[in-house]
Amino acid sequence: MEYRECCGEKLSALGFGTMRLPLLPGGDSSKIDARQVDMMVDYAIENGVNYFDTAFPYHGGMSEKVIAASLKRYPRDSYFLATKYPGHQISESYDPEKIFETQLKKCDADYFDFYLLHNVYENSIGVYTSPKWGIIDYFKEQKKAGRIRHLGFSSHGGTELLRTFLDMYGDIIEFCQLQLNYLDWTLQDAETKYRIVTDKGIPIFVMEPLRGGRLAALDEKSETVLKTLRPDTSIAAWAFLWLLKLPNVRMILSGMSELAQMIDNVNTFTREKPLSDREKAEVDKIASGMHAGIPCTSCRYCCDGCPKKLDIPMLISICNEIRFAPVMNTAMRLDALDSDKLPSACLQCGKCAKVCPQGIDIPSLMRELDAAVAKIPKWADICRQREEEAKRNSF
Ligand code: SF4
Ligand code: SF4
Repeated sequence: MEYRECCGEKLSALGFGTMRLPLLPGGDSSKIDARQVDMMVDYAIENGVNYFDTAFPYHGGMSEKVIAASLKRYPRDSYFLATKYPGHQISESYDPEKIFETQLKKCDADYFDFYLLHNVYENSIGVYTSPKWGIIDYFKEQKKAGRIRHLGFSSHGGTELLRTFLDMYGDIIEFCQLQLNYLDWTLQDAETKYRIVTDKGIPIFVMEPLRGGRLAALDEKSETVLKTLRPDTSIAAWAFLWLLKLPNVRMILSGMSELAQMIDNVNTFTREKPLSDREKAEVDKIASGMHAGIPCTSCRYCCDGCPKKLDIPMLISICNEIRFAPVMNTAMRLDALDSDKLPSACLQCGKCAKVCPQGIDIPSLMRELDAAVAKIPKWADICRQREEEAKRNSF
């Protein structure tokens, strides 16, 4: 197993993400197959995985309980348990103490090794930093009391949001969890996010390395290229090996749903050779082919003349994301926009298209995006459903 140093700890480069655990028959996401989870945890620990990541809302509130119960079979100091405070969920009130005490109780734990503010993004930064809720001050106190060993945050926010939050709290934040993979490196400008966090001297943990599983299987041509280079290496492994080339990546979470995935991932982090520069270039080429659909270069020439002042390149990046496959993040990105900044506000005047050096038919893209947005669940509805599930499954 490959290990990396972070916050004075020796972390396995592979972490077990627990938002897609195996389920019992019936498909209810709160009914986790605890026996299979035990087998996955046993295999992970036997093979040197020591980082286990959960969160308050995962599996309707049951992920924390099931993973902590499974880990309880091992000495407490032989693994790192991480969970998160759900300040990103839209709610009428926020009570960090109540949630934190519930989490400790659910996990039958005295402390968490790593604790994260869950998804600091454009619409949750106000919640996290509001004196009314005192969330960050509360967790600073818990750290002083030894109930949190390392405090960090995860984020699906944009680059400006990251800069703002790190300017405010970079001195107390010990690590940052980002959505990073070879596709989002350019599709979601994850490269800029990586550099912003790295320049602050903050270690990065990775979430969505396979983009919700989409990078575990590619089109036939891309798979042939990779299989020619390394016949016995799984397609998913390429995504992890690509990330391992980034020096500030300290731990990569994989949300595994079955033992076979755990075995394949452990194999990647134990036996695979690092990517050569030529191999990395092949992966980069595959990535650029995957989102060449709308060739926007973010030059922003189109923005100045837009009578609705729409952030056109950002809307195009959402359109690219939806064309590839919408992720949970898409719902949050849309939620962060005021209603007069959504594609529905487009007047179809065509001023933007006249100045676009790439010749992009922006008005028709706005129509396409508007129709697609209507089919994506609203973030507020997702939060409401999660809150109800968490209540049902709390003590
Ligand atoms: S067509 Fe829409 S996006 Fe383009 S300039 Fe007019 S209002 Fe703005
Ligand atoms: S002018 Fe064209 S390439 Fe430039 S940001 Fe606008 S859509 Fe993208």
